[in-house]
Amino acid sequence: MREKGLSSEQLFSFLLAKKGEDLDHAHILSSMCTIPHPVAIRAHMEFMETNLGDPGLFPGTASLEKLLIERLGTLLHLPTACGYATTGGTESNIQALRMARQIAGKERPNVVIPESAHFSFKKACDILSLEMRTVSLDNEYRMNARAAEEKIDRNTCCLVGIAGTTEYGMVDPIADLAGVAKDLDIFFHVDAAFGGMVLPFLDHAPAFNFSLPGVSSIAIDPHKMGMSTIPAGVLLVRDRDALCSLMVDTPYLSIKQGYTLSGTRPGASVAGAVAVLEYEGIEGFRDIVAGCMKNMKRLTDGMETYGIERAITPDVNVATFTPVKVPPPWIVSWTRKGHLRIVCMPHVNADVVEKFLKDIGEHHA
Ligand SMILES: *Cc1c(COP(=O)(O)O)cnc(C)c1O
Repeated sequence: MREKGLSSEQLFSFLLAKKGEDLDHAHILSSMCTIPHPVAIRAHMEFMETNLGDPGLFPGTASLEKLLIERLGTLLHLPTACGYATTGGTESNIQALRMARQIAGKERPNVVIPESAHFSFKKACDILSLEMRTVSLDNEYRMNARAAEEKIDRNTCCLVGIAGTTEYGMVDPIADLAGVAKDLDIFFHVDAAFGGMVLPFLDHAPAFNFSLPGVSSIAIDPHKMGMSTIPAGVLLVRDRDALCSLMVDTPYLSIKQGYTLSGTRPGASVAGAVAVLEYEGIEGFRDIVAGCMKNMKRLTDGMETYGIERAITPDVNVATFTPVKVPPPWIVSWTRKGHLRIVCMPHVNADVVEKFLKDIGEHHA
């Protein structure tokens, strides 16, 4: 550290210069995060000092976390769902697998997950010493329930399905998978980190929520399509007993036991997440999601008029195409199979899409 501190002027000119090195959202087409909603930013700033790791000191903020769980549980067809606010999909997935392992009590437990699963499952399996069994996908990049069933054996503690895959925006056949899990009495976790805030607002979305009796837990991320400040994930759980299998004693805090992974936890981003839900309501989110889907359609149509074909028609707002050179300053991403990938987040608005198409047209011709 410096012997003598900076003046605040010096400090902030340094910090803001660093921020200036960051890329501009106006050209970021590769991210599942977006510019936070103005009410999320305002709420976040109002709750800066709150710590949900010691909720007895912040009962008001803690009740906002309860409200967040209740709102999202209701959205996913289980108003009585329990759960808590995580740092994002990664923590939700780690904790879901940890629950499944605790409940099953197998000696050499394995989990069955699709090839399309987010890399957080690799971390989870490493940390929890779980054998990861990967199921290959069908030609629409979905995990087939029969193929999943073949990988399940007596040591399987968890089956995972994805509702909105990170790379291709596909929804696995969650109803079929839930049926398999129910029949075999296996914990079934649905990773809806991205799709959870999209599918409920679409007209003909495939089933993926707690209305399917086999679904045990769901990961859903307000800091992606929920437009909240980072970090805001949510893990929702059907059975309180399952969640409580994660309990450890927490001496010297205002609560005696806790099931969260982090200790000190931000209340600010929870307030941010609640703020967007309350402010937009179902109507507002329908509009936001409809806008993203409309922009994705325009993007796809535009690309196809240049002969750049879609890789697949996605279930949520993640567009993929045959590879093509993309000029700067556009930031796109590439799937493991080499497709061009564009996430049609709210900041990728109609204007951005038109500018991008114009640039691609000039470069591609
Ligand atoms: C983004 C994503 C994750 C990871 O979430 P983080 O918030 O980045 O930890 C997990 N699963 C899916 C399907 C995702 O899209």
